[in-house]
Amino acid sequence: MKMPRKVKMYCPYCKKHTIHVVEKVKKKKASELKAGQRRFRRVTAGYGGFPRPTYEGREKPTKRLNLRFRCTECNRAHTSPMIRAKKFELVEVK
Ligand SMILES: [Zn+2]
Repeated sequence: MKMPRKVKMYCPYCKKHTIHVVEKVKKKKASELKAGQRRFRRVTAGYGGFPRPTYEGREKPTKRLNLRFRCTECNRAHTSPMIRAKKFELVEVK
């Protein structure tokens, strides 16, 4: 899927249609101080296997996209309904 780097869409903060910059959200390293990460460290420590069951079945052909749309007028970001794509590319529109 190809998506323009700049799209005109509704900004819920400005309450009108403005130009938005599309950002792909990168996965951040889990903080060792967060409750979920502390629980994970506690559960995986010592004897016993991985706390979550291994996924059985085929791998999904598409991946979920984590996109963020930043308004160029108020500089605030919001997300849109989840979309799936096999490939994702941000393209510059002339
Ligand atoms: Zn805005």
